[in-house]
Amino acid sequence: MPAKNVHTGINDQIGMEFHAAYLYLSMAAYFEAENLPGFASWMRHQYQEEVSHAMRLFDFLVARGVKVELQAIAKPETRFTGPLDVMKKALAHEKKVTASITKLYEAAQKEKNYPAQLMLEWFIKEQQEEEKTAGDVIARLEMAGSSGAAMLMMDRAMGSRGGEA
Ligand code: MG
Repeated sequence: MPAKNVHTGINDQIGMEFHAAYLYLSMAAYFEAENLPGFASWMRHQYQEEVSHAMRLFDFLVARGVKVELQAIAKPETRFTGPLDVMKKALAHEKKVTASITKLYEAAQKEKNYPAQLMLEWFIKEQQEEEKTAGDVIARLEMAGSSGAAMLMMDRAMGSRGGEA
């Protein structure tokens, strides 16, 4: 059964993407409570993007004739000390996802599962973008430092960027 392991891994990855979605939604809740609607909006977009990642994996397995078995989604972190803390945690989580995707890709290579490899290549590219985006926001937050005016400007910018940010 050469294709079984990577398919099981992809099945579990669905849960990881939903967990990422849940984490971003928790971050959105934090920013809403902190009166930073731009950051909250950005996090809501991230949430939706993660759900779409989960569904891309779900649909891949369906198309391959594999039955999806959804796993439990763990409670996300709910307490943060500020925007920089949130974004550093978002980046740390994306790096975990990247490591997981990389492992899946290696498994797909080992199993000579070419459809899985093709599908996962999209995720490898996507993870590079996710990490870069989070890193860019962190760099800007570090520049803003403790300036309230800079934070307000940044909040406005975060809110206007939409899903691609
Ligand atoms: Mg994702």
